[in-house]
Amino acid sequence: MSKKLRFETKAIHVGNKPDEETGAVSPPIHFTSTYQQSGVGKNRGFDYSRAANPTRQRYEENIASLEGANYGIAFASGMAATTALFQTLNQGDHVIIGRNTYGGTYRMAVEVLSKHGFYFEFVDTRFLDQVENVIKPNTKWIFLETPTNPLLELCDIKAIAQLCKSHDVKLAVDNTFMSPYGQNPLAFGADLVMHSATKSIGGHSDLLGGVLITNEKELADRLYFIQKSGGAVPSPFDCWMLLRSTKTMGLRVQKQSDNAMTLANRLESHPSIESIMYPGLESHPQFELAKCQQLNSDGVPIFGSIISIELGSVEARDHFLSKIKLFTLAESLGGVESLVCVPFGMTHGSVPVEIKNEIGLTECLIRLSVGIEHIEDLYDDITQALKK
Ligand SMILES: *Cc1c(COP(=O)(O)O)cnc(C)c1O
Repeated sequence: MSKKLRFETKAIHVGNKPDEETGAVSPPIHFTSTYQQSGVGKNRGFDYSRAANPTRQRYEENIASLEGANYGIAFASGMAATTALFQTLNQGDHVIIGRNTYGGTYRMAVEVLSKHGFYFEFVDTRFLDQVENVIKPNTKWIFLETPTNPLLELCDIKAIAQLCKSHDVKLAVDNTFMSPYGQNPLAFGADLVMHSATKSIGGHSDLLGGVLITNEKELADRLYFIQKSGGAVPSPFDCWMLLRSTKTMGLRVQKQSDNAMTLANRLESHPSIESIMYPGLESHPQFELAKCQQLNSDGVPIFGSIISIELGSVEARDHFLSKIKLFTLAESLGGVESLVCVPFGMTHGSVPVEIKNEIGLTECLIRLSVGIEHIEDLYDDITQALKK
């Protein structure tokens, strides 16, 4: 399938050829652990489903194309994907991670993999000099998120990719927050993209998944090897659900972002809101960077489905949470249904309090994941919940 096709077309067609045997337009789900061999070691490209499964291959081909890449390696969760990436390291290797990284990435790095002889260092990847200062001879990867969760700070992917090239370090971007529809880090020079497919790729809050995407064959081969060795693979059913979900990703993510932009504009001057963070607001310190880095399939800026607001006190926060109806109090994001969470005690519960203080993540910060409901219903719900 031509790589020149646009996002929405690839989402429908790549990996979605009708079934060769029956012509079924919706691809079959290959619920099998093993495959008949015509002789010892003679098979039709499949021998055991930990190594390869036709439904998983369809999904991997599809999702890789949506980041403009050749290789997609699917995992059972976002954390399984990130862990597999770090399993490419050798003892003594050093990795630089954005200081405001996803809580699970922090936990895996500090509480698990640091004990295996890998070194992780956390810096504010918004600032190029801070990143450059900690690059060492044994630095192998820089791993960053942009925008970050939940403070929505941006990192300049292109600038960091150039820095990486000049130091022979590889760049990985956790692109979960923007989805493949809203940002393509490989196009800015990153070597690898990671997604928690649990979020916008699945998009319906009904499964867990993760994926690593790259154009580098040697890296992809190593990651397929780790995938088959560790076996943290998604089931054929989840792969089929994901293949189905990417077909509507463009529609969903655009609508979510449009809803979020409207809410952010309307709420910016609300008297009960102390501060609001959204990369699409001109008041966001990195609005200009957002406009050149976060682009939809038509090259139009897109600012994502997440808004963070500060209400000033724990009382105001709890009052809001007790009144809000359409936003369900829950972790996760990127689904069709709106969710609300307090990262301090929920998604970032395992990040030490000192670090949360240092990065400016307070107990009063509320993160909204905006869904695809009607904008006026979402707006009415938020304004009634903000009433004292
Ligand atoms: C959810 C999330 C992860 C982890 O993904 P799981 O699918 O929950 O394992 C990693 N990074 C970001 C930015 C996330 O939001």
